[in-house]
Amino acid sequence: MDEFEGKVALITGAARGQGRSHAVSFAERGADVVIVDRCENRETVTYPMATVEDLDETARLIEKTGRRALIVRADVADRAAMDSAVAQGISEFGRIDIAVANAGVSAMGAVQATSTALWDETIGSNLTGVFNTIGAVAPGMIERGYGRIITISSMLGRQGATNTAAYVASKWGVIGLSKSSALDLAQHGITVNVVAPGNISTPMIHNDKLYRHMRPDLESPTADDVEPIFRSLHSQPVAWLDPFEITRAVLFFAAEGSAHISGTVMPVDAGNAARVT
Ligand code: NAD
Repeated sequence: MDEFEGKVALITGAARGQGRSHAVSFAERGADVVIVDRCENRETVTYPMATVEDLDETARLIEKTGRRALIVRADVADRAAMDSAVAQGISEFGRIDIAVANAGVSAMGAVQATSTALWDETIGSNLTGVFNTIGAVAPGMIERGYGRIITISSMLGRQGATNTAAYVASKWGVIGLSKSSALDLAQHGITVNVVAPGNISTPMIHNDKLYRHMRPDLESPTADDVEPIFRSLHSQPVAWLDPFEITRAVLFFAAEGSAHISGTVMPVDAGNAARVT
């Protein structure tokens, strides 16, 4: 379990959900980890964001493995804050070898009902946030001639969907940005790859607002009530996947042996990829 011994990973959106799974898994395999999260609710986002306590808990889980954690509270949409997060990571651990641009928000709404504020928040966190993460880690990686960057899109980054225009746009954007970054950084020993998850069991999908959106016929829908709808979004008969299923793909792209895999998109979406080009 020492595959990443001596390496330093930076994970955005690390306070909970998939980001926490990635962060703790890198630590279990020997890496020190810079964990970045905003830990702040937004008026436009209808479900609660992670808390400072969540981010502390991720740090505790990392330290339990014997590795070091550096906590940075930052909004990925803010370039100066991301430059500072990376500078803090380099000052503490010497460098950043691996970056996982995972932070993101879900936004519901038909295009005609999407406010400018919701659009800005969604593009800011999900797309500009990935741009800022890549932009902040790239100079140090170029200097050292080594880097593994993994970005998180979605199965909705490869198809259209109703009531999700801003989110879908942001996730298609992540793929275009990542492929172009892979080309720009190819001369420098840096790979950039995308993981495109299906429904993953985190607070982003397990929240009252989304449940009610999916089952407007029920007063207080439960996970059991929405399970068949989530299942229909996958090809395999499974409604949602464990965050570690995404971590497994992230670890693959971060590995030494993946040096010559760059610019790719790996769907981990219970077979939904079979339905889209
Ligand atoms: P989550 O809500 O549990 O975690 C997202 C984390 O990102 C939270 O800790 C939140 O505080 C943080 N965050 C949000 N905006 C931020 C910002 N601007 N700056 C810093 N931190 C910010 O959800 P998750 O499922 O773990 O999501 C992780 C990634 O996976 C996201 O990019 C999401 O779009 C993507 N994704 C999720 C699913 C799913 O079904 N859960 C499916 C496809 C893609």
